[in-house]
Amino acid sequence: MSAVKMTDVSIMIRKQEKKMTEILVKKTHFSFGEIERLLKLYRERSGGETDKLDRTLFREFLHDCFNMTDDILMDRIFKFFDQVNDGTVGREEWIMGLNVFLRGTEDEQIEYCFTIYDLNGDGYISKEEMLTMLKNCLVRQGLEEDGDEGVKDLIDMTLKKMDLDKDGKVSFSDFEATVKADNLMLEAFGPCLPSNRTGELFMQTYLDPMEV
Ligand code: CA
Repeated sequence: MSAVKMTDVSIMIRKQEKKMTEILVKKTHFSFGEIERLLKLYRERSGGETDKLDRTLFREFLHDCFNMTDDILMDRIFKFFDQVNDGTVGREEWIMGLNVFLRGTEDEQIEYCFTIYDLNGDGYISKEEMLTMLKNCLVRQGLEEDGDEGVKDLIDMTLKKMDLDKDGKVSFSDFEATVKADNLMLEAFGPCLPSNRTGELFMQTYLDPMEV
């Protein structure tokens, strides 16, 4: 009896997901098949539960599929995905987040990276925020013996390049203009996009081949 019920429930969920997918195709850069694959992955990563991908599970996903290890950045990425801010990434949030993360246009990804790096959300990437992120980054690379001096030099260099209006912090328009002139600056304060080899592998697995 309970086996029959389980089947009913899963048929219901499938039906509901098909509807959701049809809506999401219109709202994202993904095809129907891509969304289906990404929702299947969602089920795998959330232990088969719907709308229950919490911070820990989400961070495990970022680590396993994109080799990410930076606590601060992974938490910021989680916050970006968790739009409703209820401590879990639901299926729709999952697809909408991945839409920018995997398939975002240049403008969408510039906005995304800026949001990630503006740790306190005040509209600027301050020196303190840079220090927090770059220090963490150098520690992970085993370069912390250069100490604060190394990080401060790096911040000065970055500000020189990014702080176009010379107010001592990086605004969105500073960030946008710098990245448009030099795309390598997009992830200036640490990895937050699937731009490494592991990320490429993920894209090949889950996304349709790009039409050239
Ligand atoms: Ca800030």
